[in-house]
Amino acid sequence: MAQVEVVRDGAVLVRDGRIAAVGPYAEVRREAGGARVTEVDGVLFPGFVDAHTHAVFGMARLEDHERRALGKDYKTIAAEGGGILSSVRDTRTRTADELSDLTRRRLARLLAHGTTTVEVKSGYGLDLATELRQLEVIGALAEGPPRLVPTFLGAHEVPAEYRDRRAAYVALVIDEMLPAVVRQGIARYCDVFCEPGVFTVAEARRVLEAAGALGLGLKLHADELDGSGGAELAAELGAVSADHLAKASPAGIAALASSETVAVLLPGTMLFLGKGDRAPARALIDAGGAVALATDFNPGSSPGASLPLMATLGVSQLGMRPAEAVMAITVNGAAAAGEAGARGQIAPGFAADLALAAVRDWRELAYWYGMNLVAEVWVGGLPCHPREAALKFLV
Ligand SMILES: [Zn+2]
Repeated sequence: MAQVEVVRDGAVLVRDGRIAAVGPYAEVRREAGGARVTEVDGVLFPGFVDAHTHAVFGMARLEDHERRALGKDYKTIAAEGGGILSSVRDTRTRTADELSDLTRRRLARLLAHGTTTVEVKSGYGLDLATELRQLEVIGALAEGPPRLVPTFLGAHEVPAEYRDRRAAYVALVIDEMLPAVVRQGIARYCDVFCEPGVFTVAEARRVLEAAGALGLGLKLHADELDGSGGAELAAELGAVSADHLAKASPAGIAALASSETVAVLLPGTMLFLGKGDRAPARALIDAGGAVALATDFNPGSSPGASLPLMATLGVSQLGMRPAEAVMAITVNGAAAAGEAGARGQIAPGFAADLALAAVRDWRELAYWYGMNLVAEVWVGGLPCHPREAALKFLV
């Protein structure tokens, strides 16, 4: 992960939306024939890949932000009407058009920060109709820019009406939601929020095994609050990613490091929640694991759009080297979104998804923070920086 190849005075040849060649300018120019030339000044990165977001929601959670600042824990916040179930109540009342309009505005902010591919989860419906509506919204926006990867997260939380009947809710997810999602072909992955008090490792296993049998890829929210065995489960089931991992145990770290499962770390969440927990990036990398960084973009714990900021936090909070942080939002982000062979690299055959940063040294990407360094964005070779995104309201 610490090896970044830098080409100085380079050029990228794009043909039919894909990268045809990359290398020193003079070399690529010879191959380019009569190609149209776009000159840029700065560092051209692969378009960033955000492998973990919950971008389809309605309202912001402004009261929760203040409640947390005043020291209230999530149980108190939930008892006062906040928390994830307040987003569920709100999302259930929203039409597909409303959700689509809001999601488009927010995704434009991610794109403006250089993100060209975004994994987006459902999980604010927790009933069949609203989960399908969220996935339909993701599907309608999937061609982008930015391009979207849809994930079904019906097992995000137990909804209020099933509070005393958790087994019945797990059965609903497995017996009704999953088959409907697969029938409509509107999700590539199934994810579960596996934590004590939400879904147990045994429940997560049942949901994921059912999803896998229906042909979906697997992801897992694992060991954010407690090292309960989520990382081990993700590795055992061959999940494409295990996400959060702030409390992953040594056994969980070892299991991930010896698997193909990408560890997706979300330092923006810890920052926004004011928590001191640090995901074990260094231990994972040193053990041979693949680490990605993502925003966790969502209204409760991480309303932030910038993957370069996550790279800064990766270095400053998680002990990653700048090269590892860049790999974590490009190559490994793509791997965690199931796009390892298609996106996240400037290499022949890959999608011509590119982000130009107005910097002289690539290491500046993870250095300057709190400002957007991205000056231009291309998806499939077409310029698409949404300069007007900053003028659009987010709610
Ligand atoms: Zn999440």
